[in-house]
Amino acid sequence: GEIKHIRNFSIIAHIDHGKSTLADRIIQICGGLSERELKEQVLDSMDLERERGITIKAQSVTLDYRAPDDTLYQLNFIDTPGHVDFSYEVSRSLYACEGALLVVDAGQGVEAQSVANCYTAVEQGLEVLPVLNKMDLPQADPDKVIHEIEEIIGLEADMAPRVSAKTGLGMEGLLEQLVTFIPPPKGDVEKPVQALIIDSWFDNYQGVVSLVRLFDGTLKKGDKILMKSTGREWEISDIGIFTPRQKSTGVLRAGEVGFVIAGIKDIHGAPVGDTITHAKTPEVERLPGFQKVKPQVYAGMFPISSDDYEDFRDALEKLALNDASLDYIPENSDALGFGFRVGFLGTLHMEIIQERLEREYGLDLLTTAPTVIYELEMDDGEISYVSNPSKLPDMGRVNEIREPIVRASILVPQEYVGNVISECVVRRGVQLDMQVLGSQMQLIYELPMSEVVMDFFDRLKSISKGYASLDYGFERFEAARLARLDVLINGDRVDALATIVHREQAHQRGRALVERMQEMIPRQMFDVAVQAALGGHVVARSTVKALRKNVTAKCYGGDVSRKRKLLDKQKQGKKRMKQVGKVEIPQDAFLAVLKVN
Ligand code: GDP
Ligand code: MG
Repeated sequence: GEIKHIRNFSIIAHIDHGKSTLADRIIQICGGLSERELKEQVLDSMDLERERGITIKAQSVTLDYRAPDDTLYQLNFIDTPGHVDFSYEVSRSLYACEGALLVVDAGQGVEAQSVANCYTAVEQGLEVLPVLNKMDLPQADPDKVIHEIEEIIGLEADMAPRVSAKTGLGMEGLLEQLVTFIPPPKGDVEKPVQALIIDSWFDNYQGVVSLVRLFDGTLKKGDKILMKSTGREWEISDIGIFTPRQKSTGVLRAGEVGFVIAGIKDIHGAPVGDTITHAKTPEVERLPGFQKVKPQVYAGMFPISSDDYEDFRDALEKLALNDASLDYIPENSDALGFGFRVGFLGTLHMEIIQERLEREYGLDLLTTAPTVIYELEMDDGEISYVSNPSKLPDMGRVNEIREPIVRASILVPQEYVGNVISECVVRRGVQLDMQVLGSQMQLIYELPMSEVVMDFFDRLKSISKGYASLDYGFERFEAARLARLDVLINGDRVDALATIVHREQAHQRGRALVERMQEMIPRQMFDVAVQAALGGHVVARSTVKALRKNVTAKCYGGDVSRKRKLLDKQKQGKKRMKQVGKVEIPQDAFLAVLKVN
């Protein structure tokens, strides 16, 4: 095909506004899938994504679209994730596109995350076409939503296609508008090759597979290529597109998006953001690539069985290949042994990584409470960063501790504004702005990141009947009165249970924490003392009373089936227990610090 008939686009949408359904519908219309295949939402290919209904990794699909005037277009659709934790993936996918569809649920209206992603798209020079989805629903209110899009985002939305991805209503019109509205890529098939790696992943059979966008030139099977970052040369063994199935074509041309396989076995051989050119044109410039994203949240992860340590490290290495935000360094805990301190974009990212490690790699892991990064200024002026509470140095030598502050934008229907403001106040938020935008209010707050990353988003949802939406980004470090809160079990400090708290809240937190721990630690054959300590002083204590003899006798007697049930239960519980000294501590207890306020 000719470059003027190529259209590269992404879909920007808030979770649940129908991006996956719309994508599947487009794929179906363009003949990429049968009815049966459509049953499964193909783009959310990871099981985990399907279950959680979110899209994590960017994917691409190349489709043929025949317009009513009989022109044959090549559509390259690059999927993007919708959750706030993954916004960096969005800008990555947008880089390969000339346009984007902004899908808005016509019954719900605009959400904060879409606003942020839309700005990114516009900044990168993309044409953004608003699409009103779910027009089949009785609560669809297109005029209200058009007004919101214009008011909040500043995009003209009068001409927005009105569709139902579910029923197929308006879909033909949408495609016609797409190919006229979104411009073709600029590029020259005759020029030296300049291709950007949008994504790379490791496949057990094929080695490293890279998703690339060709800006200039033509790449063919058998070509000798050069990775600009490493200077190493490879030979293309397979090249093609996703339809969404992987399909070899033998060639990719300027403007196109597809895969390249070049016998690369080392997972660092084709890094995301790298530029590919021909070995014979080493003078071709490197593309700017992507901003390296920094993890915002850190947690310790430890294999329940220490035999799994090597497997755990291999699994992290594999996951990190196509997840630039995943960061990990070895950590040695007195209580939990050898593991890793792993950095994530947010707590959802953390949960997903933990689940993938357990499901795809068969690991049993114990995760400690997530924490943000603190900046320390020592007495001698030296600056350092701490992402592990137990490593917070002796306060005598610290001049100042600073915590990360975020700027948060919240969109919420007016009737829930009061709830949202109260929640922000509880979390030490400072209001910067509040204004009416369409039928919603936009609130701008500065909040400590530690208050936002944990469960703020879930809370916002629950106090607004699901309507509030949130976007946030790091602003700066700010001095705060912080201290390390330690937990002692039977007199021994458990490093993996330490947290960093505000001094004003320390006593209350300590009390709440020991109470929670007392509920969570199963009774043992002896009394277990649980204490919270601040700077070496115990501020709260509780005791898990020993089991009485006759209770145990009862447990272990009884009929066989009951006994088996009990044993099964114990086995399951075991999976998530870790022996700390003489005491078995369940996984939940390590996360208890998050649940106390
Ligand atoms: P995503 O999170 O943006 O990918 O959203 P999905 O495509 O997974 O859709 C979320 C929910 O909305 C699913 O239950 C879909 O069946 C439903 N949905 C999507 N599009 C439409 C539509 O046009 N009409 C109706 N009634 N439901 C839709
Ligand atoms: Mg989806």
